[in-house]
Amino acid sequence: MFKKSLIVTIIFTMLISASVSFAKEVVVYSARKDHLIRPLFDAYKKETGVEVKYITGKAAPLMQRLKSEGRNTPADMLITVDAGNLWNAANEGLLQTVDSEVINNNIPAHLRDSGNQWFGLSVRARTIVYSTSRINSSELSTYEDLGNAKWKGRLCLRTSKKVYNQSLVAMFIAQYGEAETEKIVKSWVDNLATEPFSNDTKVMKAIIANQCDVGIVNSYYYGRLVKKDPDTPLALFWPNQNSEGEGVHVNVSGAGITKYAKNRDDAIRLLEWLSSEKAQNLFADSNMEYPVNPMVKPHPTVSAWGSFRQNRVNVLNAGELQTAAIMLMDRVGYK
Ligand code: FE
Repeated sequence: MFKKSLIVTIIFTMLISASVSFAKEVVVYSARKDHLIRPLFDAYKKETGVEVKYITGKAAPLMQRLKSEGRNTPADMLITVDAGNLWNAANEGLLQTVDSEVINNNIPAHLRDSGNQWFGLSVRARTIVYSTSRINSSELSTYEDLGNAKWKGRLCLRTSKKVYNQSLVAMFIAQYGEAETEKIVKSWVDNLATEPFSNDTKVMKAIIANQCDVGIVNSYYYGRLVKKDPDTPLALFWPNQNSEGEGVHVNVSGAGITKYAKNRDDAIRLLEWLSSEKAQNLFADSNMEYPVNPMVKPHPTVSAWGSFRQNRVNVLNAGELQTAAIMLMDRVGYK
């Protein structure tokens, strides 16, 4: 009798532990908004049975939280926007190295950390936007040209306090060096029509309102505006496309596995899936971004903005040269 109940207990314990090990989950801290990631995680659960639990918030507080939780963090993965932020997370020791052939094949080398701690998952172009009612695209050519005297009092920019512009200037430094970049950014400041704006949408609205004629924005903000009003009198221009031209500046939203991930292997499998052909449209299209995986075509709405050659400078420079960029912008009076 005793023996029989012991066997029952053993079998019961085995069943419970088996069910526990099958109830897989991955915990994500995401600076990418809820409505952009939920459909992905729902699809992932459907396909694999693995539940993705997540919280969303701004990049800085999420990173601070990871830091203070240390090895007790429940988070396995950090998702955030801009290579500058991803680089900072790695630099703060919040991420770990991932060696995955799948990921390395899916994501071009210039859009991920060369130390394999973070990986771009979608691409956003930071490019020129212009008034189609007052400007002909033939008047535009390069980022540098926006400092030309012909654009005096006609340029609008977002504030230098935003990581997007810090990354853009950092990438310029990587490409042209500090002295040349300082000349370019100073010439932009000299051409400003008005004080820098707090966001990209305000830059575009200022162009529509005839406060200025050209600006620099992330491609998806343009997409959002056009979606609301298809007759928006603005267009994107792809600069630096001439033969020796360096290409359009791109940045990423992306992810890394946290240093103290409890579900490391499952988190890596999720990351591999996010970079796969299956998931890439789901990841990029919801925010009108470009898939990072070159095998995947952008959404038709995004493709309609035209094709362009990307700048191939590794986006990790956005992090490595961020401090130099901030100091440079301060020196030339870019607020
Ligand atoms: Fe944004």
